[in-house]
Amino acid sequence: MRCAILADIHANLEAFTAVLTDIEKRGDVAEIWCLGDIVDYGPDPHACLQLLRAANHVCVAGNHDWAAIGKVSMQSFNDDAITSCQWTAQKLTPEDKDFLMNLPATIQKENFTLAHGSPRDPISEYILYPPTAAENFNHFTTPYCLVGHSHLPGIFKQVGSATNYSIFLSNIGLVIGKNRLIINPGSVGQPRDGDPQASYAIFDSEAKMMRLYRVPYDIEATQNKMLHAGLPLKLVNRLSHGA
Ligand code: ZN
Repeated sequence: MRCAILADIHANLEAFTAVLTDIEKRGDVAEIWCLGDIVDYGPDPHACLQLLRAANHVCVAGNHDWAAIGKVSMQSFNDDAITSCQWTAQKLTPEDKDFLMNLPATIQKENFTLAHGSPRDPISEYILYPPTAAENFNHFTTPYCLVGHSHLPGIFKQVGSATNYSIFLSNIGLVIGKNRLIINPGSVGQPRDGDPQASYAIFDSEAKMMRLYRVPYDIEATQNKMLHAGLPLKLVNRLSHGA
């Protein structure tokens, strides 16, 4: 089976649509595994939720998904994030809110545990460095784990008692083998690794291989919608730089 792994769509319809088109083009993808933060920051929360729900998918909750419906607090958010989160809350339909409310914090699929932030603290914790990843290997029972949240495509690999980090580069096959892994496919709708193109991965369970793809999209169209909506300028500008 082949499945697509998407994280941090962040209400960016142009990026999400471009990724779905890319998935279609590559063919044979049976299911989308979504790692949360479907909404907030971007201008199309409702449309992105509709599009995800129309696809064959599983999805875990992200901090922004639950902050937008008041299920977790915005305490850790900066002013721009609070502004966009409050804007997002007004754009969600009752069905959207129900969907977000009922998202699980973690899911197991095949040999993977899916979580937004980390398996230890699925909603809040960032896995940015090997020591945090090393501790988190004790918090899931499957061989592998998929996370989002940092918006940085990366691979944490357990080798004996050590944990190694490498950037998840595009178009290079990652062998899903005997080492335990925590993998981040980067962000669809708000990349932060210096590459503004949308990021996602495809896992092939027969080939035991995962591959990251970067997809160009109409960034300006998204930015124009954000400006029109009055969303914070800093959030608009960062899409140009993937930062
Ligand atoms: Zn996010």
